[in-house]
Amino acid sequence: MYVFDLQVTKYQVIKQMASEALERKTRNYALKLKRSKNYVAMVVGAEFSRTKSVDKSKLLCSTDMVSKLKNRLKSLGNLYSKKNGNTIGCCAEVNAGNDILKKKPNLNLNQIRFSTPIRPRTQQKMKMCYNCKQTFR
Ligand SMILES: [Zn+2]
Repeated sequence: MYVFDLQVTKYQVIKQMASEALERKTRNYALKLKRSKNYVAMVVGAEFSRTKSVDKSKLLCSTDMVSKLKNRLKSLGNLYSKKNGNTIGCCAEVNAGNDILKKKPNLNLNQIRFSTPIRPRTQQKMKMCYNCKQTFR
C-alpha cells in the first residue's frame, strides 16, 4: 500500500510538471504585468510538446471556446457562474488551455501540461483551482 501511494504521488508530480521554458515564460509574463500594474488574478502557461501559451485569468467568450473544453466546463456548472470559489470559464488555465486546443484540436484535455500559476501583484506561486483540476484531469 505504501509503495502504491508513492507511485501515485510520483505520477501526479510528473503529470503536473511543465517544461522549464514554460515556467520561465510564465514568470516573465507575471513580471511584465506587475511592472505595468496590470493586477489580474493569475497567470499560467499551458503546453503540449513545443506548443506553448501563457495567458491570464479573464472571461473567455464562449464563442472562442473549443467545444471540447466548453462541454467539460458546462459539466461543472453554468459558464461564468461561481463554483468552488472560482468563476467557471474565467481561469488563466482555461484561456491558455483553449489556445493550445485551438492549435492542436485532437488533444485530450488531460494531455495539456500547466506551469505553476502566479499572482502578478504579489509574484506569489499559486495552486490550480479545483474547477481546473476537474477540467483538465
Ligand atoms: Zn481554475
